[in-house]
Amino acid sequence: DKEHAARFVDIIKENADRLSRLVEDLLTLSNIELGKVSYDIRDVDVEEAARTVISTLEPKAKAKGISLEVDVEKGVHVLSDKDRLAQILLNLVDNAIKFTEKGSVKIQAQSTPPLPLFGKEGVQGAFVEISLTDTGSGIPPKDIARLGERFYRVDPARSRELGGTGLGLAIVKHLVVSMGGKLSIESEYGKGTRISFTTPKAEN
Ligand code: ADP
Repeated sequence: DKEHAARFVDIIKENADRLSRLVEDLLTLSNIELGKVSYDIRDVDVEEAARTVISTLEPKAKAKGISLEVDVEKGVHVLSDKDRLAQILLNLVDNAIKFTEKGSVKIQAQSTPPLPLFGKEGVQGAFVEISLTDTGSGIPPKDIARLGERFYRVDPARSRELGGTGLGLAIVKHLVVSMGGKLSIESEYGKGTRISFTTPKAEN
């Protein structure tokens, strides 16, 4: 049945690709949890990292008519594993594009002032906050706290349709925490989402 064969082959390929992404994400998550992932922490230029990710995902955003913007404080460097930082940013930007139908996705980064350590001498080291703001679907308040749990999705059918594995944010959360940062999610349902994480700042 030539008419249906091509469509079936497409469906088989799509599902094979999804399974392969799922196996890859499960292996990544399991390796992180088993402490098998080593982090090569060095000085990383945030603007350079952001621009590399943008150039990878620009075609995807363009195809949806979404603008991708970078607003990163000049000369800001962090202490991070370059490849892992790229993996975090790729996941977050990819999600922002996936769940946005019109408008923009913006990467911002700025250093936050060092916090005084109460009762102790000195200050806690400075951090850089990197954030992704989109004008997409937003996330209902009841779901925000549960994002980052493996396989937790707001709309499982939609996520699957978009090719997601439901493990992206769980991986991001682990990587951020393992490299000394914190992940936060703010969202207004129907208006958009801001996902941010902190990472230790490198002194220039
Ligand atoms: P998925 O593979 O489904 O994208 P993730 O772990 O990356 O899995 O994300 C989990 C869920 O979080 C998504 O299915 C979606 O419901 C929600 N989500 C993540 N990022 C966004 C965003 N920028 N806007 C709206 N919802 C989001």
